[in-house]
Amino acid sequence: MLVILSGSSGVGKNTVINEVLKQSNNIELMPTITTREMRSGEEPGKPYVFVTKEEFEQMIKEGELIEYQIVHGFYYGTPKRIVEEKLKDKKILIKDIDVDGTQVLAKNLKNVVTIFIKPASKEQLIERLKSRGETRIDARLARYDYEEEMSKKYQYIVVNDKLEDAIEKITEIINREYQKR
Ligand code: 5GP
Repeated sequence: MLVILSGSSGVGKNTVINEVLKQSNNIELMPTITTREMRSGEEPGKPYVFVTKEEFEQMIKEGELIEYQIVHGFYYGTPKRIVEEKLKDKKILIKDIDVDGTQVLAKNLKNVVTIFIKPASKEQLIERLKSRGETRIDARLARYDYEEEMSKKYQYIVVNDKLEDAIEKITEIINREYQKR
């Protein structure tokens, strides 16, 4: 089962994912191939596999990606073989994917649960972006209305007002969906 989490920049997707991973030993991060540079504190393969633009474009040509998008000027894509193998093994995979990539995956894979995380309000989101020292707030908010519109296509919407409540709700959704399959 693949659990996809989406939501606007600053809504807390990564914090939620890290907490869900800490609390559960049968959930893994889904790998992503990307052309962006590795940030300090990151390790290759966890979950980003870093490649050059040429290598990425070769993978597109060879049909090795189930989906890919350009986000903030870099390629990000989902490796077909690894994901299909893990899903066959009844693993639970979790990943933060943008709203367009989610639609492609939901169409192409059977076992997908889509969750959209919203802030309590746009003002709350702006406050969170400011408090984490974000300087390009306008750029990060530019997709907000589009993402809100796309949220209608998700199976679940969770409001991240209080972090603990959002984590509890998302864990419940994952467990319930896993029991059903
Ligand atoms: P970052 O570089 O900040 O870790 O991620 C940038 C954006 O890329 C995130 O908003 C995330 O949703 C998106 N992203 C990460 N992995 C994938 C992927 O495999 N496919 C797609 N379409 N988007 C991804």
